[in-house]
Amino acid sequence: MLAKRFYELSPYVPGEQPKDREYIKLNANENPYPPSPEVAKVISSFDVSSFRLYPDPDAGELRDAIAHMIGHGLTRDNLFVGNGSDEVLSFVFFTFFDSCAPLYFPEHTYSFYPVYAGYYDIPIERKPLRADYSIDLDAFLAGSSTGVIFPNPNAPTGIYTPVQTIRSFLQKYPADRAVIVDEAYIDFGGETVVPLLTDFPNLIIVRTFSKSFCFAGARLGFVIANPPVIQNLFTTKNSFNHFPVDTLTQKVGTAACGDWPYYRRINDEIARTRDMFAQEITAYGWTVLPSLANFVFTRKEGLSGKSIYEAIKKEGILVRHFSQPGIEDFVRISIGTPEQMKKLSGVMKGV
Ligand code: PMP
Repeated sequence: MLAKRFYELSPYVPGEQPKDREYIKLNANENPYPPSPEVAKVISSFDVSSFRLYPDPDAGELRDAIAHMIGHGLTRDNLFVGNGSDEVLSFVFFTFFDSCAPLYFPEHTYSFYPVYAGYYDIPIERKPLRADYSIDLDAFLAGSSTGVIFPNPNAPTGIYTPVQTIRSFLQKYPADRAVIVDEAYIDFGGETVVPLLTDFPNLIIVRTFSKSFCFAGARLGFVIANPPVIQNLFTTKNSFNHFPVDTLTQKVGTAACGDWPYYRRINDEIARTRDMFAQEITAYGWTVLPSLANFVFTRKEGLSGKSIYEAIKKEGILVRHFSQPGIEDFVRISIGTPEQMKKLSGVMKGV
């Protein structure tokens, strides 16, 4: 009864959501603050009878709002939206990566990339990080690839690649292959590569509302690219699901874009909390990789990542551990409120 391709699947495992007790949840890079009050206003005045009708399939108003918020002369023709950036990534993989050559990505990176590659039968080659755990873009230039994808900042390290480094890479990489920069965590201190779009038609930027816009439960992600790329993504979307973003999410997303000062404020606060937390645990003997994301990647000499994860969980705090060789001694800690991080640093002092 099952299709042959089904046996090839190896699904992504998200951060756990245990129900045995109340945890401080710092394992999924969620934002500890609520969305803008403008979002709550839209929901409380929402005309539920509009659910009778299908949403705008192309989410025009929302794409205008995102373009306006990001600036840099973008218009709706530079934007594609979907049901979370995971879905958007799926459309990107389907549209731009072929099976004739491997897709390159960093050895340690977002673990959904190999899952989608398997789903679409795209061969992959993982390129080792440098000794300091930064992404080695030069390694992506060797051989022949169907395209490249990496997050900036990278996950789970949090390490940011400067725009100038990405520009030099794009100057050397074949212009007819897609380069995807996943900017899921860009709003926590990094600088976007959006200005590079004028020079590089093969650059595709993926973003999400889940982290910096406090929307993990609402599911909204988007692509910023040149219009021909966007048109191709519409073709893919309309061959799979006409209506990936529902009416309410289109409206709350639009409202969120109108309150950028609120998001600037809370995301700057998260960046400040991150830097203070990193400083504090460093003083307790932890090694913390330099992060410009809303999480830090840390380890302590002599301890396994799994034992750190377990010791912290025992105290009612969830962090994320990855068992892949090379990063198995680290834990990834999402940045919560200053109070939550104070509690955690207290726990880590004793680990
Ligand atoms: N890209 C990266 C690098 C991520 O860490 C995540 C979150 N797990 C996503 C994309 C997906 O985010 P979402 O589907 O919630 O938009």
